[in-house]
Amino acid sequence: MQLPIFTDVLAARDVIRPYLLRTPSLRYPLLDKLLDAKVYVKHENHLPTGAFKVRGGIHLVSQLDDETKRRGVLAVSSGNHGQSIAYASHLFGVKATVVMFGIPNPIKREAIESWGAHVIAHGKNSGEARIFGEHLTAEHGYRNISACDEPELIAGVGTCTVEVIEDVPDVDMIFVPIGGGSSASGACLAVEGMKPSVEVIGVGAKRAPASYLTWKHLARTEAEVEPTIAEGLAVNEPFMLPQQILWERLNDFLMVDDQQLQNAVRHFLEKVRTLVEPAGAAALAGALSIPDRVRGKTIVLIASGANISPEHLKRCLE
Ligand SMILES: *Cc1c(COP(=O)(O)O)cnc(C)c1O
Repeated sequence: MQLPIFTDVLAARDVIRPYLLRTPSLRYPLLDKLLDAKVYVKHENHLPTGAFKVRGGIHLVSQLDDETKRRGVLAVSSGNHGQSIAYASHLFGVKATVVMFGIPNPIKREAIESWGAHVIAHGKNSGEARIFGEHLTAEHGYRNISACDEPELIAGVGTCTVEVIEDVPDVDMIFVPIGGGSSASGACLAVEGMKPSVEVIGVGAKRAPASYLTWKHLARTEAEVEPTIAEGLAVNEPFMLPQQILWERLNDFLMVDDQQLQNAVRHFLEKVRTLVEPAGAAALAGALSIPDRVRGKTIVLIASGANISPEHLKRCLE
């Protein structure tokens, strides 16, 4: 598979521009105080579907040929990839099927269905759902859209960081949550093309270490997922396309536990007055875990998504 490069990100930007408003990078004095740094929040939680992934979904689905569009697409997802593909498919008149696994977040499931996609719940983890999705794909001739092993998705989500560097030219560090790594690898491409001195710091969930272990050991490593509040970060099989970019360019990969994610969701509510899901709070949780490295720096936290279930929100407020 061809690795995407910076010029692909710029091309993706032209493709998605008619469909998505630029998201703001905003300052909040209480966050500056909390981190003793100049802090910006990049509000990807304000995109339609409430998560950054729609940047990639629109880019990829818009490029499909007519025959593929007619047959339809399939996505295996804990929710936000499914929403992205459902939203983009709705936009371009494509039939979409989404396989969800584990106990699907009801907010995400309902949203996917609202865009006209067909949802099937199957498997206890992403790996089992992937195998089921491959059967369905073979049977119906769908285009199976991987959550992260897709150059068009990585190029599409990289547009987030292009906006960040344009809006915050003095940025020193960008904190990005990592599930499968599409978002962080897109950030790496944009930084490489625009301001290579910027540090890209990934933040993963301790209970889902597959991507972290793969990055650290420079070798594909699967790992069981323990139940985590951050379903958006819970992959048990790593994605090797983004990993190849992360191996080259990611500056660090921090791991946070569920308690740190819950605290960060709460900080977003109290100090930013914005709703993020636990995965969407990972960037803040990561920055809070390395106070000495962020002090005095200009940092951007990618608030990657908003789609928290009421049950998880309650847990964050307890
Ligand atoms: C998918 C997702 C992530 C993780 O992104 P990857 O590209 O899989 O690393 C983080 N936050 C939210 C809200 C997501 O939906």
